[in-house]
Amino acid sequence: MAQCRITEIFYSLQGETRTVGLPTVFVRLTGCPLRCGYCDTAYAFHGGQKMEVSDIVAEVKSYNPRYVTVTGGEPLAQNTCRELLTALCDLDVEVSLETSGAMDIGNIDPRVVRVMDLKTPASGEVSKNLYSNVDQLNHQDQVKFVICNREDYDWAREQLSSLDLIDRCEILFSPVHGDLTPTDLAEWIIADNLPVRMQIQLHKYLWNDAQGR
Ligand code: SF4
Repeated sequence: MAQCRITEIFYSLQGETRTVGLPTVFVRLTGCPLRCGYCDTAYAFHGGQKMEVSDIVAEVKSYNPRYVTVTGGEPLAQNTCRELLTALCDLDVEVSLETSGAMDIGNIDPRVVRVMDLKTPASGEVSKNLYSNVDQLNHQDQVKFVICNREDYDWAREQLSSLDLIDRCEILFSPVHGDLTPTDLAEWIIADNLPVRMQIQLHKYLWNDAQGR
């Protein structure tokens, strides 16, 4: 029986992505090989507890959710993550996966919505981007740029055209809370008429980034 190492399972509102604001169960897997400068889930780097996939699914089901997000850490760093994703899809809920963009996103159940970061220069982890993932994206997926400053914004805008991202999937631009004001990012997007969805991290405004919310 497959197991995953889990930091937390909790019910909250989705703070980002296309389903922002909708009640969602989060399954946070432990561990991440990256160290982004703005990381707000460093508590998930270590520890956690091993759980059978069937027990994880049972706990998720107890919330009777419509949406489930598998996050981390970097969930794909655990090779049993794909099995977990398929088991969650079998609950007949919408399942999304939040991933850093540093791990191969292939061979994932096609029912899963993949929300993939492309790490910007100011994250400190731009060298970890696995660009072969871009060709695997489809229209239900989303690519997220977490933007720290104007240089990151200019870099992200360049990626939109050089990687032909707009035609592949939805694009999310998110300002780093406390580093870049949402207003500045909004004005840059409008000035450049970019076809991207700007998002703020709703959970930070609602619960000030408290763990498990
Ligand atoms: S990929 Fe995500 S979890 Fe890992 S260090 Fe970066 S922000 Fe934190």
